[in-house]
Amino acid sequence: MPTTRATVRASRAQAADPDTVSVIHDLVRPREAKVLPDMLGPYHLIRTLGSGGVGRVFLAEHRAMRRPAAVKVLSDEATADPELLERFYREARALAVLDHPNIVRAYDVREAEGFHFLVLEYAPGQDLEVLLRKRGPLPSAEAVGYIWQAAAGLAHAHAKGFIHRDVKPGNLLVDESGGVKLLDLGLARSNRPGDGSVSGRVDSGTVMCTPDYVAPEQARGEPPDARTDVYSLGVTLYALLTGRPPFEGTVAQKLIAHQSKKPRPVHEVRPEVPHGLSEVVARMMAKTPAKRYASMAEVSAALAPYKAGSPSAETARFAVTVPTKGTTDWAAITADSDAKPWQAKRRPVWPVLLGATVLAVVGLSLNWLVRHGA
Ligand code: AMP
Repeated sequence: MPTTRATVRASRAQAADPDTVSVIHDLVRPREAKVLPDMLGPYHLIRTLGSGGVGRVFLAEHRAMRRPAAVKVLSDEATADPELLERFYREARALAVLDHPNIVRAYDVREAEGFHFLVLEYAPGQDLEVLLRKRGPLPSAEAVGYIWQAAAGLAHAHAKGFIHRDVKPGNLLVDESGGVKLLDLGLARSNRPGDGSVSGRVDSGTVMCTPDYVAPEQARGEPPDARTDVYSLGVTLYALLTGRPPFEGTVAQKLIAHQSKKPRPVHEVRPEVPHGLSEVVARMMAKTPAKRYASMAEVSAALAPYKAGSPSAETARFAVTVPTKGTTDWAAITADSDAKPWQAKRRPVWPVLLGATVLAVVGLSLNWLVRHGA
């Protein structure tokens, strides 16, 4: 199911198809599209990885360093808008302070050939929205493992004063070994003084959001905080466990549902999901921020029993697919036990030495007896 980022008027959300909601329509000034060259500065653009709210993302290679990168090129429309352009640069610079294994790193922001672009760490893998489409609802322990890692990345962002504001399966990239990277901090705003670039927009009544995952207070245009991300992460977990977000319908219907409608509990949609986990999801998705977990640390603690490897995890059979990357996971693994999973277990050497000594003594004695006893 597509979850196009939409720009909606919080006060008068339109009853439109979620895919066709106009994107920043009041800011767009269409003009001739420029042709993108193969090289942007030192980066060779190889192929398109995807498209987001502000432009297209390309797999690229830094020619001199032979290093892969993801290059996000600002769209013509956004480039033509001085306010958006300035915000793009301001946010790119602000993102440079984020440094966490579960967040895609921002390396550079620059202009070449008339294009403005952001250079990001290339994160191979597929996003959880694609995974969900391919596989349907995920096993509980696997879904929790992904959300656990996202929570670790978000905790770091929050500690640095950032709120993501657009947490959803499409913004969580999973690599082959199950490591999760948080994408698209394009909507993220630093809450630090002097960095509140979005406040004017919120005040004027426009809210950037993805209707399937938006927190009620965000849709109302209220200032978000860490609990806003807790809500969207809860909806993301809900979707991973049940196969879809909780509310269907038009954008307006979804926004209203997030404000007022109780979602069907996860364990009712999928009875094999532990009741306790279903309750954690429900608390993450509480309509009132005060009733949610107050921080990502609290979310991680609540999810801990449902991760693979924990005694009460649904089943150990998913352990192979559960993430093993990321600080939090490694910390949990090493705290849980002294065992180092990357080291083969060694057998004690002394029984072998003892056996060899006994055999040698017996052999030598027999030899002596044969020679001298005969
Ligand atoms: P965004 O504009 O950030 O929403 O990105 C659009 C799509 O491009 C994502 O859904 C990903 O599939 C892809 N993408 C974005 N950033 C990266 C990255 N750093 N590494 C790999 N793929 C990415």
